[in-house]
Amino acid sequence: VGAGADDDARALALDRAHVFHSWSAQAQLSPLVVAGGSGSHVWDHAGRTYLDLSSQLVNTNIGHGHPAVVAAIQEQAARLATIAPATANLTRGLAAERVLAHAPEGFTKVFFTNGGADANENAIRMARLHTGRDKVVSHYRSYHGNTGAAVVATGDWRRVPNEYARGHVHVFGPYLYRSEFWATTPEQECERALHHLERVVQSEGPDSIAAILLESVPGTAGVLVPPPGYLAGVRAIADRYGIVLVLDEVMAGFGRTGRWFAHEAHDVVCDLITFAKGVNSGYVPAGGVAISAPIARTFDDRVFPGGLTYSGHPLAMASIVATIDAMEAEGVVEHAAAIGTDVLGPGLADLAARHPSVGEVRGTGVFWAVELVADPVARTPLPPAVMAQVKAGMLARDVLPFVQDNRVHVVPPCVVTPDEVRTGLAALDEVLGEVADAAVT
Ligand code: PLP
Repeated sequence: VGAGADDDARALALDRAHVFHSWSAQAQLSPLVVAGGSGSHVWDHAGRTYLDLSSQLVNTNIGHGHPAVVAAIQEQAARLATIAPATANLTRGLAAERVLAHAPEGFTKVFFTNGGADANENAIRMARLHTGRDKVVSHYRSYHGNTGAAVVATGDWRRVPNEYARGHVHVFGPYLYRSEFWATTPEQECERALHHLERVVQSEGPDSIAAILLESVPGTAGVLVPPPGYLAGVRAIADRYGIVLVLDEVMAGFGRTGRWFAHEAHDVVCDLITFAKGVNSGYVPAGGVAISAPIARTFDDRVFPGGLTYSGHPLAMASIVATIDAMEAEGVVEHAAAIGTDVLGPGLADLAARHPSVGEVRGTGVFWAVELVADPVARTPLPPAVMAQVKAGMLARDVLPFVQDNRVHVVPPCVVTPDEVRTGLAALDEVLGEVADAAVT
């Protein structure tokens, strides 16, 4: 904690004068000042503390200030703070080994990147070179990052003003609550979504399709846990047409769903896995592509035409090794699973039962969405002005929510305690009663 309220004012003034923010009209911003954090909490300079149900951008899976990870970064900084990617570096090798230890059998290599977007960018590049094909099929309800191909593979609104890359095709994935397929059961939704995907593949010309790129659990789009059989069905389609299957585990991976990788719950093995966020909880920017043997072999004697100055950056690598070690030693992934089953899932189901504004809650582990509606029968989304009040109501109660469209995503760190979950849900309970239910017609 610095000089208190003066530093908060200074932080905000400097920010407004000079910092250009993501995805925003700059003149309309008034960002929260954050000076420090520990575990599931962050605070400003004056000492006002917030419970973080957002994990920032759903990435602080081990919470803030994990001492072993901080120490590992400090030690690495003192030993070797940076080194070119063409060198061999022990910390980098250990980080790759740690990641692969949690990937399916047959994954042999890791290409490290600076974050999730460039992980997807390079996975797409690998798939195109491996297959000699061009097109990438992904979901409309998705986000894959903000770089050239990744943002056009993205399905949500962020694609549209950035649509400069070619060769991208989108399909609707399963989302029973707002089914595009007139489905009334998960089985129907699954079968019809797979039929739609296969028909699009056939119509686009299977020989032109390099990759199907999907989030294992679409995250920002609403924590759309796929119905049983969907991802396995996608795998079968990919196999039928010689298409590379890339699963984006950037948000869903490393404990978020109560598993190391979300796809483990779905009986599917893909060809490339992209990761970032939870791999080191964002202590140092990092991401990567885990590569299965056949695709890795493509580049044994053929140049891979891609690279980054900071690929395998020592500070990022040290933080990955320490994060994965800490998660293993402390049972963080198992803890996230238990929080979902024992506390968060039942707590949210209780809110859904008592609040008419809750259309649906869905999720697993510490990865949940609460979908708010103005009309529970028509499922009309709660309008943006009311969602803004929901967000403000949570902040007024010292809880940071992740509000997206008409949803509150309840995505605390994997290390969140049962008491912290109860505190967060109590705030949500009050806000739903005061703000959201009052808007139900
Ligand atoms: N993929 C998914 C599923 C994401 O949620 C995100 C970021 O939110 C990305 C990719 C992009 O990651 P980054 O912002 O690190 O580039």
